[in-house]
Amino acid sequence: MSATQMVLPLQVPGVSTLPDLSTYDRILVAFSGGKDSICCLLRLLELGVPKGRIELHHHLVDGLSNTPVNSQISTLFDWPITESYSRKFAQAFDLPIYMSWLEGGLEREMCRDNQPKAPTHFQTPDGEQVSGGQGKPGTRCKFPAKVADLKTRWCSSYLKIDVLSTAIANQSRFNHSRTLVVTGERAQESAARAKYQSFEPHRTDRRDSPKLRRHIDHWRPVHAYSSEQVWETIQRWGVQAHPAYYLGWGRLSCQFCIFGSPNQWASNAAISPERSERLHQYEQAFQHTLDNKLSIPEMAARGKVYEAIHQNPDQLRLALSQDYTLPILVDPDTWTLPAGAFGEDAGPT
Ligand code: SF4
Repeated sequence: MSATQMVLPLQVPGVSTLPDLSTYDRILVAFSGGKDSICCLLRLLELGVPKGRIELHHHLVDGLSNTPVNSQISTLFDWPITESYSRKFAQAFDLPIYMSWLEGGLEREMCRDNQPKAPTHFQTPDGEQVSGGQGKPGTRCKFPAKVADLKTRWCSSYLKIDVLSTAIANQSRFNHSRTLVVTGERAQESAARAKYQSFEPHRTDRRDSPKLRRHIDHWRPVHAYSSEQVWETIQRWGVQAHPAYYLGWGRLSCQFCIFGSPNQWASNAAISPERSERLHQYEQAFQHTLDNKLSIPEMAARGKVYEAIHQNPDQLRLALSQDYTLPILVDPDTWTLPAGAFGEDAGPT
């Protein structure tokens, strides 16, 4: 297929744009393990996309498990189970999953002191590749800002968006072909996300480069979906959601997302007191609180531990482990809605 061939997406009033999916050589789903990225994949399958053209890409916010940071292991921000849940999900759907990460994860970038940005690692069909790490030294020593602007809320860009872009830009298999990147942002999540286009050229698109002819589109297939529609889709397929939803979290982000609500800080202090304390120690070291006004213990003191945590000890154990042992697919008739399904919407804006 010619890389310059124009395929106009179909506009359906009131529904997000539907591109002609048959024209892509491959479709990359940015898979966080959360309900929206699950729904993206299920929508592709319901639209008849052959599995052979789909691949999942998961970004490890803390880096690959067992990656040393200053001779310690970084396990600071993310749910310990997310990597394993994502791998088991891919297995259950018989799809390839490629992990990618900034070396040392969010913690190392946050602590960068007169050092270059760490290298980016990404898995490919031919093995792991590494890119970058030789930039100018710089100092951060601060938390990402709790704002929509991705320049100052650098965690989303440095640990996720840029990581995928690096993986695409450094693999020649994406040149001279058509690729669709699928992500799960929904308009209902925030005013900033409501303004996102549901279909546009991806930031790595180089379709006009005579040398590369790298045609990359970006589609947000659930942009117009309500959370009810997302859960209905997940139930239809009988997909067992990430344990965090069963503990009361309404969105799957990092366990210690900077946008966490007081209830989530209280819940995290109850279930992961050591990591809560380590984050507070960083507040003291940076002489700056993660929130604009309150310290982490102050936020936790204003919240209430989610009831569902006490009601689901098995899901709690699973959430804090590194091996997902439940089935991913269950009978849709026995599927149960997680306690957090329509809970607090705290998370990235
Ligand atoms: S989930 Fe929260 S803390 Fe994690 S990368 Fe996104 S905005 Fe940052």
